[in-house]
Amino acid sequence: MYSRLFGRILIAVMIFRTACLAAQDVMPAPVIPVKPMDAVTVPAHLNPGMAVDLDNPASFLYPEWSNEYVHKFDDVPLPDSLVISMKGYCMPTDSTRITDRYGYRSNRGRQHFGLDIKVLTGDTIRAAFDGKVRISRYERRGYGHYLVIRHPNGLETLYGHLSKKLVSENDIVHAGDPIGLGGNTGRSTGSHLHFETRILGNAINPAYLFDFPNRKAVADYYVYQKNTREIYYKVRKGDTLIGIAMKNETSVANICKLNGISRNAVIKVGQTLRVN
Ligand SMILES: [Zn+2]
Repeated sequence: MYSRLFGRILIAVMIFRTACLAAQDVMPAPVIPVKPMDAVTVPAHLNPGMAVDLDNPASFLYPEWSNEYVHKFDDVPLPDSLVISMKGYCMPTDSTRITDRYGYRSNRGRQHFGLDIKVLTGDTIRAAFDGKVRISRYERRGYGHYLVIRHPNGLETLYGHLSKKLVSENDIVHAGDPIGLGGNTGRSTGSHLHFETRILGNAINPAYLFDFPNRKAVADYYVYQKNTREIYYKVRKGDTLIGIAMKNETSVANICKLNGISRNAVIKVGQTLRVN
């Protein structure tokens, strides 16, 4: 009987959460950075009293607005550390099921720069924060129908394999707005959402920010640190593991550990290896 009652409560909670109001309005109380530091200094752009300019989101970090491809910010220097506020977030999916994690996929010999979340074709995908749509595009061999949104907190979020996009480039969106429908377009087997979080084009594990199984933010703030960030290297013709290690000032052992490969692993041209 208790389990039935509990089940009903759970369903009620889930329906409530589905509306995403809980996630948007309530901030978890204490300040807990994911990687504990001496103290989190909340920078001026996160000042709660400051007006948010959704026309120019995160202009403190990104010098320009363009609808160009997601990874290209090579000429913009990364700050040593960056405090990302999770304030006002909304979980992008109702689904809590992660079907593929961030990181190296040994079966395909490449990095997976996002999280895969099980959704059905037609399921609503929501904006994770307020922001402005930077890219709304179709990529047949990659993300399929996908969106990139830039947010005032400095993050860019990417939503891939959609069956339909509901917003256009330069649209302003709010956290929880439906932005697309789940699907199976592009390089995808089975309907799912491919979700990425990036800072100046640098992918970070979305699981550091969003706790999908529990439908909540991991913490109030995430502190991104340049010196501990992940660095990737694309294998070129003639490369060896030793050569790649030397070029990137690391060791073969470290590369093997980071990528889950052995010293004798065959590396292929075009393969992406994590080197830090
Ligand atoms: Zn994926």
